Amino acid sequence: MKTFVHRGQITKVVFGSGTRSRIPQEADALGCRRVLILCTPGQVEQAAQMRDLLGAAAAGTFTEAAAHTPVDVTEKAVAYARTVGADSVLALGGGSTIGLGKAIAVRTGLRQLALPTTYAGSEMTPILGETEGRRKTTRRLPEVLLNTVVYDVDLTLTLPMATSVVSGINAMAHAVEALYAQDRDPVAFLMAGEALDSLIRSLPVVARRPDDVAARADALYGAWLAGTCLGTVGMALHHKVCHVLGGTFGLPHAETHAVVLPHVVAHNGPAAPEAMARIAQALPGDDAATGLFDFAGRLGAPRALRDLGMPESGIEQAAELVMRDGYWNPRPVDRIAVRALLTRAWAGEAPS
Ligand code: NAD
Repeated sequence: MKTFVHRGQITKVVFGSGTRSRIPQEADALGCRRVLILCTPGQVEQAAQMRDLLGAAAAGTFTEAAAHTPVDVTEKAVAYARTVGADSVLALGGGSTIGLGKAIAVRTGLRQLALPTTYAGSEMTPILGETEGRRKTTRRLPEVLLNTVVYDVDLTLTLPMATSVVSGINAMAHAVEALYAQDRDPVAFLMAGEALDSLIRSLPVVARRPDDVAARADALYGAWLAGTCLGTVGMALHHKVCHVLGGTFGLPHAETHAVVLPHVVAHNGPAAPEAMARIAQALPGDDAATGLFDFAGRLGAPRALRDLGMPESGIEQAAELVMRDGYWNPRPVDRIAVRALLTRAWAGEAPS
């Protein structure tokens, strides 16, 4: 008999092609009259198009969203939101921009809409990660859940191929850890499996033809499911390791996920047979860890933490930080095991 608790999400989701044209009506449905658009410096053109579309409902555009949601950027954005009298934010971009929207919302209570343009999945989670100095903290706050998320596959067509691949593997990591989460439930398990099937099917096509709309839609669908998993069940060792590596060594988010995932799966495999069977179903012919390693390699994803800028001398410190806070993992973790998997990931060796 299955025993579980399932919590549904409050976020409204619109998915399709050309769906960004619905933003004015979605904002209106929320009662938003002064929408502040958020983006990174690299996405100002797409943001300008949304500003034109919103017309009088556009309060302004803040174009300085940055990786790992630095608190000083958030404070500047909050001041700007107050100056222009914003009643809501529209985050157009990846996890960095959506993170800024959440950070503004938690300080101001502004309503939130998003047009996600990567596969990171932040738009579906109540998780807020912020960086102050070199310290990154992460909190789960129900009040940062977005009101409305509009997925428009057309906005993802410009995501560079290499970023698409690692971002897709970042989404796969959410799904993998949802399969063996302590609080997994049948719905999360089904969503995670479907997310893996979609991403494993679509990413090789996206890598060959980044403008293939059908493959892009499949990848975005998988990313939505994976993000929903991240938002509803708890993560484990993989997310802990990536959090430490990103926060302490400034390693790039999605690339780090792509390198680390097979190594954590190799560690957790013996304690999570149901999850391993579902991964192997999505990647036939291999054991789960080797399958993920080979899949990432075929897509040209980075394989070694040293290639991402991690110093070898940091392995010991990272292992210590991973062990410092208690967190749940399907298989017990000790410092020696973490150091061993980090050493292999640092050198780009196959998981074992
Ligand atoms: P990102 O948002 O930093 O985007 C990477 C780069 O790609 C940026 O320069 C951006 O401008 C560009 N870009 C994005 N979409 C584009 C498009 N369609 N076309 C052209 N360029 C595009 O990267 P990310 O991997 O999406 O997000 C990483 C951040 O999100 C990290 O800080 C991570 O911690 C956070 N995150 C948070 C959660 C959560 O639940 N809180 C979940 C996942 C990731």
